[in-house]
Amino acid sequence: MHTVAPFTQLMEQFRALPGIGAKTAARLAYHVLDMDMERARRLASAIVEAKEKIGFCSTCFNLTDTDPCAICTAAKRDHTTICVVEQPPDVAAMERMNDYDGVYHVLHGVLSPLEGVGPNDIRIRELVTRVGTKDIQEVIVATNPNVEGEATAMYIAKLLKPMGVRVTRIAHGLPVGGDLEYADEVTLSRAMENRREI
Ligand SMILES: [Zn+2]
Repeated sequence: MHTVAPFTQLMEQFRALPGIGAKTAARLAYHVLDMDMERARRLASAIVEAKEKIGFCSTCFNLTDTDPCAICTAAKRDHTTICVVEQPPDVAAMERMNDYDGVYHVLHGVLSPLEGVGPNDIRIRELVTRVGTKDIQEVIVATNPNVEGEATAMYIAKLLKPMGVRVTRIAHGLPVGGDLEYADEVTLSRAMENRREI
């Protein structure tokens, strides 16, 4: 079969992305070839620019192009309430809800002994330091409602409660085993409202 090396290479790059099969990869590669040069350059530079400019906030560990991030520096937000989530898309889900005005802490994972993820592999130590050095009243643990998420919430509560901070867990309005990231605004809003102390 006749192949054109740069086309194959482009297709393989698409194929390596999550959720992209061989057919879709080929369709995307053909689509790129159909673009005018200006459009193709914009696509390529958007990828490079995102990689170059976006990093993690040194306070909350969310994705940002400034450090500290816009949420951590917002004067209008309640800086005494921290919502702890697993990943950056969870912050985006919470922000879509338009109902929470505290700040965040992104763990970048959950405790999972089976997969060898311990407390030092996620941003738990940084959370404890934050609570210990800043005026924090409440920590809302919004990890996903599955075994690892619950275990992580309990672990965090055990560490933080002796520090005199209120630790709460979002309610089970969320489907068990479901991801926070995909919860609709109403469900998420209700889960926050009905949070309970742990
Ligand atoms: Zn931040």
